[in-house]
Amino acid sequence: MAKLYFYYSAMNAGKSTVLLQSAHNYQERGMRVLLLTASIDDRFETGQIASRIGISAEASLFDSNTDLITLVKDENQPKALSCILIDEAQFLTKEQVYDLSEVVDKLRIPVLAFGIRTDFQGELFEGSKALLAWSDKLIELKTVCHCGSKATMVIRLNAQGIPVKEGAQVEIGGNDRYLSVCRKHFKEAVRD
Ligand SMILES: [Zn+2]
Repeated sequence: MAKLYFYYSAMNAGKSTVLLQSAHNYQERGMRVLLLTASIDDRFETGQIASRIGISAEASLFDSNTDLITLVKDENQPKALSCILIDEAQFLTKEQVYDLSEVVDKLRIPVLAFGIRTDFQGELFEGSKALLAWSDKLIELKTVCHCGSKATMVIRLNAQGIPVKEGAQVEIGGNDRYLSVCRKHFKEAVRD
């Protein structure tokens, strides 16, 4: 049975590495996969999924207006897709996550979505919220805080290295950096 999988984590837990390894496992058996990543920056026409350990692959782009069912149906011929892998899945809309469940249930293609669970204010991203609710399987990818505890939260640092407490959920083209931390250090960082 095809399933909808959600691999979630904080930042820098190796999501793209796991995604690209999974894609490779299908491809080396001669199977076709569809790779998707979010178009949060419109400077790029073709997408790329890059892992920090140095591997990368081209990917199709989605934004909040992309009709994923039509896209998948178009890509599903002449040779059928064996799997769909989505990076930056936190940026999916609730409706797109529903459509992905349709891809699984009606087209019977497994979907592996990879995303960050919460933003720098500790709130669920729309795509992650829907995926946590609708996926068949939830898989946590782990990374560690500077203190050695499991990092489950993300803080945003401005150019001066000061934690940012307010602002848009997604900062495009800025100099902000993100750091994965445990809940205790998240609370200390965002405390007034
Ligand atoms: Zn910590």
